[in-house]
Amino acid sequence: MKLSDIGEFALIERLAGRIHNVAPDEVIVGIGDDAAVWRSGNEYLMATTDTMVEGVHFSPGSAPWADVGWKAMATNLSDIAAMGGWPPFVALVSLAMPPDAYIEAIAELYEGLSACARQYGVSVVGGDTVRAPQVSITVALIASAKTHAGKPRVLRRDMAQAGDVIAVTGTLGDSAGGLRRLKDGCAATDSLARRHLKPEPRITTGTEAAQRGILCAIDISDGLVQDIGHICERSGVGAELNATAIPRSADLRAAFPKEALQLACTGGEDYELALVGRPRIIEKMAAETNHQLTVIGKIVADPPRKVRVLNENGVEVRFDRAGWDAFR
Ligand code: ADP
Ligand code: MG
Repeated sequence: MKLSDIGEFALIERLAGRIHNVAPDEVIVGIGDDAAVWRSGNEYLMATTDTMVEGVHFSPGSAPWADVGWKAMATNLSDIAAMGGWPPFVALVSLAMPPDAYIEAIAELYEGLSACARQYGVSVVGGDTVRAPQVSITVALIASAKTHAGKPRVLRRDMAQAGDVIAVTGTLGDSAGGLRRLKDGCAATDSLARRHLKPEPRITTGTEAAQRGILCAIDISDGLVQDIGHICERSGVGAELNATAIPRSADLRAAFPKEALQLACTGGEDYELALVGRPRIIEKMAAETNHQLTVIGKIVADPPRKVRVLNENGVEVRFDRAGWDAFR
């Protein structure tokens, strides 16, 4: 059987089945969330890692190297935001490159990575440098969790309950729209292309959500429908999203008038946050405009494990795919 037969998520499940953790009491959140959480003495720490590969996650023809470095750090910060993680943030950076790579390009990549690290307060403390057929960059990021009554306050994928509402930060689909425009040859300075190349992780919204007692979140990296699907899978619930409420930017609507909804629902790489919680808490937070939160739907008991996008007449809108899978 090939990887493409089962896809990324079934593979991870199979791999997880082969891991036998020796200290289950220390591990609070293991494989299957945006980051892992474990106890270290009286503290709780979290960690995540993400890789970007040339030709798969970026093409040097259209992505400036500084943006590649920024994004490698930003995607990890986004996973920490999705868990409600706090500083100190500490990173390890592993670089793989062919011998004929240009030093100037790699230096530029590090400038971008370092700019993101500075902006969000990340200390880069080490890494690894190896040879490979193409450039790839892996960042591993460690953060802290705040505690409340001795327990860690974290945002998990498995804490959604029927009756909760779902809110997202910012606008969705811009990154996928930007990628399309880059493929059509637009400049890296194009406004949608910027959203694809240089995402802004929602760290302050994540930390504040955890602080307010919100329990459930994910970052939108694979596509809204697929990522809300991960919450539904892990929580054993379903979700109904209101198509007209899904925030789409004026730029996206202008560039892709017919496809804006599809891009927003299935496009991926927005690195916005989806927060799930009791209506009162979420609506109170959404009323504070600095988080740019929009309520887009609700968690339902039935049908479980399904994400349905409904139009203004309550009719389900269907898409060819829910989002990105590494092997399909
Ligand atoms: P995200 O999109 O939030 O980065 P992924 O979809 O990459 O999350 O991963 C889902 C979960 O599976 C995460 O908890 C991640 O740590 C875990 N995971 C992914 N690949 C592996 C692997 N090779 N071995 C163990 N765990 C993995
Ligand atoms: Mg994530």
